[in-house]
Parts: sequence; C-alpha cells; structure tokens
Amino acid sequence: MPATIDSTLRDARARLAPVSDSPDIDARRLLEHVLGVSGSWLIVHARDSFDRDAHSRFEALLERRLAGEPLAYVTGRVGFWTLDLDVTADVLVPRPDTETLVEAVLEHHDAQSLRLLDLGTGSGAIALALASERPNWAITATDASKSALACAQANAERLTLDNVTFTVGPWYAPLEGELFDVIVSNPPYVAPGDLHLDAPALQHEPQAALIAEDNGLADLERIITGAPARLNAGGAIYLEHGNDQGAAVRSKLIAAGFEAVATRRDLGGNDRVTHG
Ligand code: GLN
Repeated sequence: MPATIDSTLRDARARLAPVSDSPDIDARRLLEHVLGVSGSWLIVHARDSFDRDAHSRFEALLERRLAGEPLAYVTGRVGFWTLDLDVTADVLVPRPDTETLVEAVLEHHDAQSLRLLDLGTGSGAIALALASERPNWAITATDASKSALACAQANAERLTLDNVTFTVGPWYAPLEGELFDVIVSNPPYVAPGDLHLDAPALQHEPQAALIAEDNGLADLERIITGAPARLNAGGAIYLEHGNDQGAAVRSKLIAAGFEAVATRRDLGGNDRVTHG
C-alpha cells in the first residue's frame, strides 16, 4: 500500500521523538518542504498517498534530521520575526531568543530616520527584521564571513528589503569614519568548553559564530569598547548575551560610559539582552 501523508507523518514522528523536542513540527516541515505545500494543505490531504520519488526525498531529509542536523539547515529555511529566512551552514540558525533584541530596539526607537549598525549579522536576521519594521532607517550590516554575508544579502534581495547595506569585515573594521545612532549585535558568547556545545544541533553550526574566548565575553568586550567611537551623541547599543553574562555586560557598558543600562529576559525567562 502506498504511504499516505498521515502514515508518513506518524512514522516520522515516532522516529524523531528521541532526537527532537518538536517531532511533529519537524516531520510536518520536512514534508511541506519536500512536497512544496503549506501546513494546511497537509491537513486537508492527510489521507492522500504520494509518489515514491517524493517519499525517498523525504526519507533522505529525515535521515539528516535524525542525525542531529538542525531543521533549518535541512529545509534551508527558518522563520524569524515575521520573515522567512534562507539559512546555510555558514550562518547560525536564528533563534526565537534573538527576537527579544528586535523587540527592545523597536520599543525604544521610533524615529523616522535613524542609522543603525548590526555587527556579525549572519543570516541577516536582526538587520532584516528591523528593516522590515522601519523601512526608512539606514541599516548597515557587517560580518567577518563572506559566505555568511552572501546568505544575508540573498535574504535581503528575496525579501526586497533595500534599506540594508552589507559590508564584509570583523566588527568595526570595515566602517572607517562612519557614525551610527544605534548599534546591535548577537555576537558569539558561548565559553570554549561549555558543555551545551555538545548538543548535536550546535555541532552543525559555525563555531566562530558561537564561541568566544574569555569565558564567552571577548567579542562582547570588543564591541562595547569600540562602540563610543562609532556612536552619535545619545546613541544606544543592544547586545545579546548568555543567561549568566548580564552583570558582566552591564558593568562593561557602564565602564565604556553608557547610561540607563538594563537587561531584559527572553521568552524562556533568561537574561538575554542588555542595552545602554
Ligand atoms: N544562544 C545560542 C546558544 O547558546 C548562542 C548564540 C550566540 O553565541 N550568539 O545556543
């Protein structure tokens, strides 16, 4: 008997349960991707069978997911904010936690025109989410990785968000003489040797986007100490960091001359974003 949508999802769910926190969503996203259909199409057509070729393509992707590869890399797509972003193995998979940073910026800044800098943009998630909400802002996004920047740029083009300029280079290096009103960044902040790096998903992600020396604080430190020279008077900075790094980031910001320094929590209730 040929496989139906329902029986295929049921089988995939059972196999994914030991490796995934969301076996049902994973199975559905993989099948939507293979068949090129929406989630509601799968529900309406639950009893339909589908062809052998599509089934073997589904099986190949399922095997990758079963081996621990993040769903986003297997389908090449992930939802962030209101956007669908393409992701490659050259970029960190955008996390819902990072939407906390986007929210914080939008709450504090509603100027019509504003110059914003996103350091280490990866897939472009933060820069593009802000660009979609504030089409009049002039946004610059940098990344040390050319292939990451290519991914971000392709997302900007596909989403027709044309108020973002992309520049390759580490942190402030490519921005000689430029000044901004707001700096944002989700830099690498995981300490080398942190046990959670053993998680299968993290092992597929670019380690340079995850790990920083000095207990995970080295890049945060570089960004903070370099910020005053890049900000207009009254400028602001928003940084994502680890759940145990809030106090360290706050004191580094105060030492660099920032005022009104505060930390906010992510959806999981962990300290995640500090601004000044
Ligand atoms: N939040 C990610 C994690 O701990 C790390 C992201 C980052 O280093 N910027 O899995």
